[in-house]
Amino acid sequence: MLVVMKAQAAPEEIQAVCEHIEQLGLRPHPLPGAQRTAIGITGNKGEVDRGNLEGLAGVAEVVRISKAYKLASREAKDEDTVIRFPGSDATIGGRSLAMIAGPCAIESREQAFAIAEQVATSGTQFFRGGAYKPRTSPYAFQGLGIEALRIMAAIRDRFGLRIVTEAIDSESLDLVADWADVIQIGARNMQNFSLLKRAGRLHKPVLLKRGLSATLDEFLMSAEYVMSEGNYEVILCERGVRTFTDHTRNTLDLSIIPAVQHLSHLPILVDPSHGTGKRESVLPMARAAVAAGADGIIVEVHNHPEKALSDGPQSIYPEQFATMMNELEQIAPVVGRNLPRGIRAEAVKA
Ligand code: PEP
Ligand code: MN
Repeated sequence: MLVVMKAQAAPEEIQAVCEHIEQLGLRPHPLPGAQRTAIGITGNKGEVDRGNLEGLAGVAEVVRISKAYKLASREAKDEDTVIRFPGSDATIGGRSLAMIAGPCAIESREQAFAIAEQVATSGTQFFRGGAYKPRTSPYAFQGLGIEALRIMAAIRDRFGLRIVTEAIDSESLDLVADWADVIQIGARNMQNFSLLKRAGRLHKPVLLKRGLSATLDEFLMSAEYVMSEGNYEVILCERGVRTFTDHTRNTLDLSIIPAVQHLSHLPILVDPSHGTGKRESVLPMARAAVAAGADGIIVEVHNHPEKALSDGPQSIYPEQFATMMNELEQIAPVVGRNLPRGIRAEAVKA
């Protein structure tokens, strides 16, 4: 159920409706919009008695949400969600494209700083790097853990980049939440419901990657898990799914972009690195993603991919990332977007 408040409803009226919902033993989720606030209701087993709610001051109407994912749906919130970062003009969602670049894994301070400097010079506002790596083999490099989180915090201070890094379990989730700006939940954890709920209780944006074989409904239901706990800042990310195709690591399903945008207000990014597994395919698919309406790109960049401890073959060189930024900057206006360059880019070069 959704309580739609009148455009002129006072904050006290919104508060009173939320309290009323709590008294019914249910959970209110205020979703402010440019025109009006709507309050999602969760926790009900059947229909909520709308009669009482409709009579409250400031309420315009009470409507039923037809989708199983309530808070993630456009029915609950018509306007696109835009995620902002305190102390920065970087955003995810809305008109500006978000570019997130960096190595698959943080391997050393030198490696991470060298790559960060190069991607910052190209104007990216977000830096990615794995501290905790979900690897197929238990013998493969598992990440530097807390040391990597410290390195990324130093990168944020030095280059003014916002940090995106993955939490793989509840232990790493608490650490990542303390150190990072965006908590990544990887494809393999997309249906780790207890992890999603824990992330929902934190106050940091969550970048949720699509599971290896997840349908659109399953993907949105996972976003709903996070939102149902009170964290509404969820960023979806298409990173390719398993198909019979063997010329790429995964099949990058760009057709999910308009489908998500039709059903949900949440931003959707595209990861052409894991989506293809091949360096030469990364730039073409990034172009296609922006042309198809993606809200941004998350891409693996390495200064020595041949020596990378993970995902070298799909990591692009910093020079290729610079080309990507220039090309996407030109494609963006054709689809009504722009590609902002980080304010620190020139300062970094100097
Ligand atoms: C990653 O971004 O490094 C990663 C492990 O991605 P995914 O969860 O999509 O495989
Ligand atoms: Mn990777």
